[in-house]
Amino acid sequence: MTEAAPFRLGWEEWLSLDGLGLPAIKAKVDTGAKTSALHASVIEPFGPASSPQVRFLIQPDPNEPSLEVTCSAPVVDRREVISSNGDRELRYVIETQAEMGALRWPIQLTLSNRETMTYRMLLGRAAIQPNMIIDPNASFLQPVLGYGAYQGLPKRKPVKRPLRIALLTREPRNYSSLRLIEAAETRGHVIEVIDTARCYLRIGAVDAEVHYDGQALARFDAVIPRIGSSITDYGMAVLRQFSNAGAYCLNTAGAIGRSRDKLLAHQLLARAKIAMPVTAFAHSPKDTKDLIALSGGAPVVLKLLSSTQGKGVVLAETRKAAERLVDAFRGVEANFLVQEFVEEAGGADIRVFVVGNKIAGAMKRQAAKGEFRSNLHRGGTASAAKLSAAERDIARDAAKVLGLQVAGVDLLQTSTGPKVLEVNSSPGLKGIETATSKDIAGLIIEHLETVVRPLARQREPL
Ligand code: ADP
Repeated sequence: MTEAAPFRLGWEEWLSLDGLGLPAIKAKVDTGAKTSALHASVIEPFGPASSPQVRFLIQPDPNEPSLEVTCSAPVVDRREVISSNGDRELRYVIETQAEMGALRWPIQLTLSNRETMTYRMLLGRAAIQPNMIIDPNASFLQPVLGYGAYQGLPKRKPVKRPLRIALLTREPRNYSSLRLIEAAETRGHVIEVIDTARCYLRIGAVDAEVHYDGQALARFDAVIPRIGSSITDYGMAVLRQFSNAGAYCLNTAGAIGRSRDKLLAHQLLARAKIAMPVTAFAHSPKDTKDLIALSGGAPVVLKLLSSTQGKGVVLAETRKAAERLVDAFRGVEANFLVQEFVEEAGGADIRVFVVGNKIAGAMKRQAAKGEFRSNLHRGGTASAAKLSAAERDIARDAAKVLGLQVAGVDLLQTSTGPKVLEVNSSPGLKGIETATSKDIAGLIIEHLETVVRPLARQREPL
């Protein structure tokens, strides 16, 4: 048997570190240094002391500073390093797989943020394998990769890396929050609960910052917004700020705003030809009769626009009752809508949970006896539902039209097919997980893994 041919390296070579999401990086082979180093910026440790992580930015191409990749990795050590100018520095050490030509091997890298390095990576003695021979007079004896490898990066298969996630909620201990925390942690991510109302914002052209308890928050890879209807506007502002600071928002502020504003949501859905019960909106109309006639006449459902959990939703069985209700709403200057009553729904509706344009689960909610509102808070009961193709399509379309990645789409089953009642941007997990026995929280985190963008300067629209 012949011995494997030695692996020849010049003094500069291309490598790929795909565990960090870096398909191509040019390294200087530096046997004068023991440890290998990666030139990074915004190096921020995160995670619990028992499993520390570090997040950092890399500009792989020295001539293209706008190409900036977000990386993260578990910290395997912290090491004091004496740099070439004699300074002592405590650096994070990470471990990842390096690939060069046909060879793939694990290497340890210290993270340094010295501005002066011309090479983004140094390959030190400790990373040189026994079968490698270094020719200090030659360059690129191994395949040349080039920075073209970064083109189209966001669309590639996502890199599995520990994410730093913020869960933006005022209710850290409710079922949905606890499940999302559990799902993120079991998948190796770090998730921190941030109370929306305690955030304050520094808005400036240089750097967007979210402050919290006297400190600027670190950068997050992603934010999962769970914004209650009582602080929609402020929550949206906080979310926009996280987005400006570089975090991927699972449900953008804009999408949340579109779904919360029922009038806007209806108009957008109507424009996209998504079926809905006939609905008339009003602020303080003089012509009560015409308003009721517009929605098909009694019986009609009247809804206060600020309603949640079915609280401001009333059924007017007769024209007289409807008129009295309209007059009452008008008296308090409330925004409301009058909607055709879909009697054949039989006090039931379907909640479809959409995650990333896929159906994650669905349940049928049946109102308590003598009640037409099927809200679980109003004594409704839930069971898993099997959807028709039309129901699946309309739910996905509705979420898409509003731009929601995560949505709870409520449908009524009518004699002319499914109709969208409402699209919720922070749908609760308890009812749907209980009814379907599905790990919806896990699906949300897995979806997040696929959409968090690797390029640090890329922003989704607000
Ligand atoms: P909220 O946002 O306050 O929950 P909804 O519009 O979802 O208000 O209405 C609450 C419940 O009332 C729905 O889940 C559904 O069961 C019932 N409902 C609402 N609108 C209609 C309607 N037009 N026809 C029949 N039932 C309706």
